Amino acid sequence: KFITFEGIDGAGKSTHIGFVTDFLTSRGKTVVSSREPGGTALGEKLRDLLLHEKMHLETEALLMFASRREHMAQVIEPGLARGHWVLSDRFTDASFAYQSAGRGMDRAKMEALEHWVHPHLQPDLTLVFDVPVEVARERLNATRTLDKFEQEQMGFFSRCRDEYLRRAAQFPDRIAVIDSTRSIEETRGRITLALERLL
Ligand code: C5P
Repeated sequence: KFITFEGIDGAGKSTHIGFVTDFLTSRGKTVVSSREPGGTALGEKLRDLLLHEKMHLETEALLMFASRREHMAQVIEPGLARGHWVLSDRFTDASFAYQSAGRGMDRAKMEALEHWVHPHLQPDLTLVFDVPVEVARERLNATRTLDKFEQEQMGFFSRCRDEYLRRAAQFPDRIAVIDSTRSIEETRGRITLALERLL
């Protein structure tokens, strides 16, 4: 199975990937945990460029999909073929949220990239960790310095968040929204419920 983790910066998704890994491992599954942009040697180089260089927004989208193509070829598809559970910290929903809704890349072009790069592959489950933008910013400010993307305006993050919620409404069978303002126990309970559907 293929599970992706999404949410705006500061929504807490990274914290929960470890929990999902442990949960699935305890159920006897072999878990491969990865991330985008990145997940391969080339992808990590692209990630470094994406996070630190200024570039045209379509260049950014193309590099995201270049990283994704490599990630699919080297990690996602071989993992699924072996019957492993592949977890990815972000996937194509992030491109719709960040590059399209956030920065204004044409949605039809984004859909064209999606259909080109993965016409048949979709996550079996996408967990969208959801918090109000203000909460996310407070969490980020408290824990670490902000990178290029995170320095952008609150409006940007609320467009990203709205897009995640819009996509969750559009693809209710695939996307589960997890209220990430709740206690860690409650959040884990929700995650477990969503995972049980796949087991
Ligand atoms: O998920 P993670 O926090 O590692 O992402 C690193 C940065 O890349 C984040 O600041 C996120 O905003 C940005 N990003 C992006 N577009 C994507 C994926 C990530 O702007 N499609």
